[in-house]
Amino acid sequence: MSPDLALQGGSPVRSKLLPYGRQQIDEEEVASVIKVLRSEYLTTGPMIEAFEQAFANYVGAEFAVAVSSGTAALHAAVHSLDMQPSEEVIVPAMTFASTSNCVVFEGATPVFSDVDPTTLLIDPNKVEELINPRTRAIIAVDYAGQPCDYGVLTSLAEKNGLTLIADACHSLGARYESRKVGSLAELNTFSLHPVKHITTGEGGLVTTNNSELASKMRRFRNHGIDQDHRQRSETGSWFYEMIDLGYNYRLTDFQSALGLTQLGKLEKGLKIRRRIAREYDAAFADLTSIEPLLTHTNRTHSYHLYVVRLDPAQLACDRSEIFAALRAEGIGVNVHYIPVHLHPYYRTNFSTSAGLCPAAEEAYQRIISLPIFPSMSDTDVNDVIAAVKKVIGAYQIQ
Ligand SMILES: *Cc1c(COP(=O)(O)O)cnc(C)c1O
Repeated sequence: MSPDLALQGGSPVRSKLLPYGRQQIDEEEVASVIKVLRSEYLTTGPMIEAFEQAFANYVGAEFAVAVSSGTAALHAAVHSLDMQPSEEVIVPAMTFASTSNCVVFEGATPVFSDVDPTTLLIDPNKVEELINPRTRAIIAVDYAGQPCDYGVLTSLAEKNGLTLIADACHSLGARYESRKVGSLAELNTFSLHPVKHITTGEGGLVTTNNSELASKMRRFRNHGIDQDHRQRSETGSWFYEMIDLGYNYRLTDFQSALGLTQLGKLEKGLKIRRRIAREYDAAFADLTSIEPLLTHTNRTHSYHLYVVRLDPAQLACDRSEIFAALRAEGIGVNVHYIPVHLHPYYRTNFSTSAGLCPAAEEAYQRIISLPIFPSMSDTDVNDVIAAVKKVIGAYQIQ
């Protein structure tokens, strides 16, 4: 093995670990939060509606409902469907666990669909095979930031009377044909975690054009109560009714202020993410043992993640050694994701096991996410490229 790999005691490409994603907050945004901290409402105030309206406008949906996390957004979306315990929701195996957990929260059963091995997006052919009289909804995950095949998924959902939910936590700002993510499914969920495109620390949103579902989700985030604190204080009334069983999933006003300023910087951040992705594509084009995911020409990509697949036949080691070698070089690579059906919770409670979704399982052995975020400097990008070339070069079978 090449003696200069940091893993073998050589000097690393960089000394401080570069994370795979991180937030970018400027002074104007800090000021917007402080302003709300000095105002009357810390929560349930006017900033929430302002943020929701701006977000809905941006994605081209009628309603946006802000909640306390992306997971709360998924929970609210599934809850709005009034699921029965006998019902099933089809989810991709290659996603973060909360995509499927939200189905379990509501007492229904997640059914895992395999993904297309070239894109790691839910495979509509596999979805179709899983549809049966118990199926109620499909959750599509726009893995890495590329929208799923909404054309086919929408007609599948319509033909079978199912609700299509888009878990768009990776794909804010992307488009499928001419339409923006957030307007593609009946319910569309977003996360505002610091590694995502825009952040409020923790936070999430659901967008929809369905006013009834939007009101249900607004109640759900507020204990199932029909009026919020501000509405009551403004009408001078103490009376409210709890109509449904809900949670406290509210986003605060100071978080909404941050979200609003972050939204204003989204397009700029997306441009940088796409530029970095093009630089990686070009730099790795002649490395035959790593391959980027396929991107479709009828969609734009918002590059929450830049994922490469390793070709085990061309490398003298497995993914975990490449991973460790890149980490040793100071590159904070990651793996997105362990297929959800392989987690002990699902194996135990839903009798899932290896072999259920072969494409997701095979991909899991081979994928690595490289750092990509708008505040990366040219040096950061070049460090990633240099480290990948160094590590892959060392393990490449000639
Ligand atoms: C981040 C993420 C979530 C969860 O969002 P949180 O805000 O962390 O709760 C759900 N699904 C996907 C695909 C995600 O990437």
